[in-house]
Amino acid sequence: MRTLLENIGEMITLQPLTSEQRGHSIKEEDLGRIHNAWLFCDNSTVAALGPMPVPADIRKFAGQVVDAKGALVLPGLVDAHTHTIFGGTRFDEFAQRLNGASYQEIAAKGGGIQASVKGTRQASDEELMKSAKRRLTRFLRRGVTTVEIKTGYGLAFKQELRLLKLIQVIRKNVRMEIVPTLLALHAVPADAKSAEAYVEEITKRLLPLVIENKLARYVDAFIESGYFSVEQAEPFIRAAEKGGLGVRVHADEFSNSGGAAAAAKWKAASADHLQHASKEGIQAMALSGTVAILLPGTSLYTGIPFTDARPFLEAKCAVAIASDFNPGSSFCENLAQLASLGALHCHLTSWQAIAAVTYVPALSLGLGDRKGALEIGFDADFAVYRMASLEEWLATMGQRLPSEVWLKGEKLHSY
Ligand SMILES: [Zn+2]
Repeated sequence: MRTLLENIGEMITLQPLTSEQRGHSIKEEDLGRIHNAWLFCDNSTVAALGPMPVPADIRKFAGQVVDAKGALVLPGLVDAHTHTIFGGTRFDEFAQRLNGASYQEIAAKGGGIQASVKGTRQASDEELMKSAKRRLTRFLRRGVTTVEIKTGYGLAFKQELRLLKLIQVIRKNVRMEIVPTLLALHAVPADAKSAEAYVEEITKRLLPLVIENKLARYVDAFIESGYFSVEQAEPFIRAAEKGGLGVRVHADEFSNSGGAAAAAKWKAASADHLQHASKEGIQAMALSGTVAILLPGTSLYTGIPFTDARPFLEAKCAVAIASDFNPGSSFCENLAQLASLGALHCHLTSWQAIAAVTYVPALSLGLGDRKGALEIGFDADFAVYRMASLEEWLATMGQRLPSEVWLKGEKLHSY
């Protein structure tokens, strides 16, 4: 179907970033803001766009014409850090935190990741897929069209493999773009002999299967004291790189554990959290092109500090914001809300904030040639909001759902 959207009040394209696939040094001009715009989609991709009026030769090719009636159009949001597949709930932990317990105290009592591991292992395949799909629908309703999903609540060879296979089935059943990441190194399993023994098993038994069957595009590891050290994770990361997988890292959330520097050394696509990243680590990340992914939802939820984006921006490091959607420390599929809060608390400008939830995370997921921006040849993923401007979108803190969400040129939801 060839679709023409006309009378768009304001459209943010982020076009200027796409030709050089740039995620850093973002300026206001990089918004590619068009007032009174039109957008022409040829089946699943953007074929042309510009300011009104619509040229006659474009209009004559349109199979359907949609009057946007002055609405705001933004590229589909891209969430580059989620833990969307898990069993069980941890709502009791929220209440415990209100009573003063810290994330670490809850984890020490068998809560936290280990609680979700238990819930996930006990859940059937059907339960896991059903709940993950429900969550994906909630993401989509909030304008998110690309979602990275990590494993990490299996924490055993068979269980991690099962999660990857379930994600593969989900990928085939939804039109949203799903990027699978093997986060087998999420925590040291309570039943493991040692961290080293577990890493060895995952590296030697699981990784070859994952590579051979293309079950993941990325691997991830939680580098933190009490989780995995850089040295413990290194054999896994190196083997994954050798097999053609990209690298993401949970880095420097609770302490400076050398995660940012290691991510740069491993030429990781992203290092995430980063509250305690060192100056040297930040500079190394900028040089290696590693995207800094900030997760303000976790700070809101657990009361840990927000990551200050400014040292990263000054170092010319690309900065993204993701939800870190997970059952215990950020139960929030509302990436738009986190863009507003992230802008406020992590110190981003409006243009850095919208790029941080669209084009920059797309780049970090290796999708910088077709996602996260409205540009010719890109997938026609976008959301329509009954708002006047990007500024209104940011200031209303993700409370207003888009009136329409379009995925690959097809309208999936209208409300
Ligand atoms: Zn995470």
